[in-house]
Amino acid sequence: MNYQRRQQSLRDRLATTQFDALLVSHLPNIRYLCGFTGSSGLLLVEESGSVFFTDVRYDTQAHAEVKGAKVVIARQSLLNAAGERIAALRGKKAIGIEADHVTVGERKRLNDLLPARLRLKNASALVERARMVKDEDELALIRTAVNLGAKLFDRALEVIRPGVKESEVAAEMEYAARRAGAEAMSFPTIIASGPRSALPHGRASERAIMPGAFVVCDFGVILGGYCSDQTRTVWVGADQKGAAQDARAAYEAVLEAQQAAIAAVRPGTRTGEVDAVARKVLRKRGLGRYFTHSTGHGVGLEIHEAPRVAAGQKDVLRPGMVITIEPGVYFPGKWGVRIEDMVAVTERGCDVLTPTSKSFLAVSAS
Ligand code: ZN
Ligand code: ZN
Repeated sequence: MNYQRRQQSLRDRLATTQFDALLVSHLPNIRYLCGFTGSSGLLLVEESGSVFFTDVRYDTQAHAEVKGAKVVIARQSLLNAAGERIAALRGKKAIGIEADHVTVGERKRLNDLLPARLRLKNASALVERARMVKDEDELALIRTAVNLGAKLFDRALEVIRPGVKESEVAAEMEYAARRAGAEAMSFPTIIASGPRSALPHGRASERAIMPGAFVVCDFGVILGGYCSDQTRTVWVGADQKGAAQDARAAYEAVLEAQQAAIAAVRPGTRTGEVDAVARKVLRKRGLGRYFTHSTGHGVGLEIHEAPRVAAGQKDVLRPGMVITIEPGVYFPGKWGVRIEDMVAVTERGCDVLTPTSKSFLAVSAS
C-alpha cells in the first residue's frame, strides 16, 4: 500500500481548498491514509507532514503499522493531544474536520482548545471521495475477498432445505468463512426465507425455511481489510418447472434489470443513470413499485461507501471504482428476490468480480 502517495494526493487537494490542515477521525479513512488498523486514533494531515495520535494500548501496533506519519502516544485524550498540536500552528488557519464523523461535543471540546485565529471548518467526505477510486493494491485485495465470499454460497446451498433454520444456514456460512481465512463478516449475514424474503434487510432468524418461497442470501467477508458483498436468491421446495409462475417471472425480471444495469456501468456515466436503467427494466415488467431501495453502493474498506448508485445521484463513474449492482423486488407477506454482484469500473466498461452463477436455482424439498 502506498500510504505516502495517498497522503500526498490529499495534501494536493488541501492546497487547492480552503483548508490548511485536516484532522482525520473516521477510522477507515485513517487506515486508508496511514495503515493503522486499531480502534483508537486521530490523524492530523498538515502541509509539512502528518501526525498520528493514539493511546498507550496501541503503542506497539501503531509503531509497526503506521506509515507516513509521526506516531504520538497521547497521555491524555486523543482530542486534547491533537488540539494542543493544532493550537501550536502559526498564523491564521482553517482546520478541516470530518463533520460526518465528529460529535457536537467533540467539536466543541476541540474548539475550546484553539485560539481564535484557528477556525474549524467542515471538510465532508474529502478522504471518502479519494477512496472511491481504488488503486491496484486495493483491487487485488477486493478480488480476493470477493472470491472467498462467493464460496460461502456453495456452503449455503448444501445446507438450505425445508425445516432448516435461517440462523443455521448463516452459522454454517460464517464458520466456513472463518475456516477459509476471513477476518470477519462484512455485516450480519442475511438469510431471509418465505415472507421474510420480502424484507430487504432480513437478518437470519430462528425461522425454519419453508417450501414454496424464495430464500434471499446476502453475505460478505472482510479479508485484508476489504469487504465483499453478494446476494443470491434461491427457490425452495419444488423443481424449476414447479416453481410458481410469477415467482419465476419476477426472478427473471430482476436478473434482466441487474444485467442491464451492469451493461450501463462505464467511465463517464453518472451513478444515477445506472440506477435508472435497472428501474426502467422493472417498470416495464410492471414491477417498478416493488423495487424499494437503491441499485447499489461503493464497497471497499467499508461495506457501504461512496458512491451511492441511487436515483438522481450525480457521481460520475471512473476506472477503479468498485460498486454493487443489486436490484430486487419485494412483495410484502409473500416473498422477495434480490441479485447482487460487485463490479469494478474499467477503462471501457466494467469487470463483474462476483463469480457465482445467476441462473434461477431451485432447491428440492426432498
Ligand atoms: Zn449485500
Ligand atoms: Zn450491497
